[in-house]
Amino acid sequence: MNAIASYLMLVDGHWTEAEDGRRLHSVNPATGEIWACFPEAGIDDVDRAVKAAHRAMTEGPWSRMTATQRGKLLHRLSELLVENAETIAQLETADTGKLIRETRSQTRYVAEYLRYFAGAADKLEGATLPIDKPDLFVMTVREPIGVVAAIVPWNSQLLLAAVKLGPALAAGNAIVLKASEHAPVPLLEFGRLCEEAGIPPGVVNIVTGLGNPCGQALTTHPLVARVAFTGGLSAARQVIRNSAENFALVTLELGGKSPIIVCDDADLDSAVNGILAGNFGASGQSCVAGSRVYIQSNIFDDVMERVRKRTQSIRIGDPANETTEMGPLATADQLTRIEQIVAASVGAGAVLVAGGGRPAGQTRGFYYDPTILACSQGGVPVARNELFGPVLSAFRFADDAAAIAAANDTEYGLAAGIFTRDIGRGMRIMRQLRSGIVWMNTYRAGSPLAPFGGFRSSGYGRESGRDSLLDYTRTKTVWIDTATKPMGDPFTMR
Ligand code: NDP
Repeated sequence: MNAIASYLMLVDGHWTEAEDGRRLHSVNPATGEIWACFPEAGIDDVDRAVKAAHRAMTEGPWSRMTATQRGKLLHRLSELLVENAETIAQLETADTGKLIRETRSQTRYVAEYLRYFAGAADKLEGATLPIDKPDLFVMTVREPIGVVAAIVPWNSQLLLAAVKLGPALAAGNAIVLKASEHAPVPLLEFGRLCEEAGIPPGVVNIVTGLGNPCGQALTTHPLVARVAFTGGLSAARQVIRNSAENFALVTLELGGKSPIIVCDDADLDSAVNGILAGNFGASGQSCVAGSRVYIQSNIFDDVMERVRKRTQSIRIGDPANETTEMGPLATADQLTRIEQIVAASVGAGAVLVAGGGRPAGQTRGFYYDPTILACSQGGVPVARNELFGPVLSAFRFADDAAAIAAANDTEYGLAAGIFTRDIGRGMRIMRQLRSGIVWMNTYRAGSPLAPFGGFRSSGYGRESGRDSLLDYTRTKTVWIDTATKPMGDPFTMR
């Protein structure tokens, strides 16, 4: 067995253990073996990190830097990320089981997000208002909000951290990032790059620990002014409740049960690739997984046959291998949960078209076959619950109205896909879908320029894009009396 790698967390510019010395470990999903360990932050550690961030904002060099200087530091960080992409990708693959090809290209692309926010740092402008009162000059100033608490899950953690850290730092805030208990290592490595880039101590703190007490202490802390959370519904509900304590401004990026609608005039090669990308990319462990597929009845059998064929030829195996197409799930619990939901769905009448079990020959690790279920009614567990795994539920639809109604029949509203050659038809469907993102004739595309976020139980607020930067600022309105006469007596009405 290989030696276990040991990591520390970043608090106030120091790499530290938890105050009480407790530690957690990370399991490599491809082997099922512990490969790394790291501190388990408690309430006192979180307090130290938040206070350090607060000091950095109020007393340190960060508080005196110009926006242009902050932008340059973010720019340097983005360059360092590209230079260190291979190392970070290998760590992320070991930590999460994601394909090396995916972690490598995603890490490089995360640098683009940082570059975007680096460039935006000195374009944050206030306004002068043509106010309706003589002699008064009124302007707005955009200020950083304060200490940002950023909480991320284990999947795409670098990206999910960058869309919070980028705008937070560009706007002049300091941040405490809470990594996931399951896979914090790439974020810790990213912390080293923040130091190397020259970001002053205390501006970026990275704590590792459990949702409770670590995330709980962070989101209730009185010095936290802004919470950016990505994760599941139950933790999100707790985070909202916590904000009643400190009045922190909260944005939430939550789960999804996203529909893909395939119309009978679609380019079927695109549609099949969209369905595969939406369900089996990252082993289906994606918040935007298009896990409810609605196919028009007259092309249902044809599309299903094409999807089945390609699904059964997906190369499953070691995610560190360059030719592997699908790796394991991230945790053993995930594997068990998916097995249970698929079994319950088959019990409720869903028909297994492909997969439905652990791949033959995989004796260790948390592997699950890419799975297709044909369903006749939307109530089956596989169509209701976010699985976060490689499981696709497929339905027939007769006309567009029926497809839209079925697609909207979910508590979530994160993403949706439409495949049609008729753009007018696609636009009509798009207008009626209740989701924050709609992809037409493509799926899972993303960019730092494009707002990302959901409706309803998929959360609120947007990450990426110009508006997300404004969410890390607060507005101060400044009134100046320019009259030559002194201010009038308040009790003399004019
Ligand atoms: P969880 O909600 O379990 O965890 C997310 C993060 O919240 C973890 O860091 C977790 O800590 C922390 N947390 C848990 N409880 C609390 C609490 N009381 N207070 C503060 N923080 C807490 O989600 P998963 O890790 O299981 O991630 C999967 C979920 O994330 C899915 O629902 C998925 O859809 C969603 N997601 C959404 C995305 C989006 O952008 N919309 C993108 C990616 C994922 P711990 O370390 O203990 O786990």
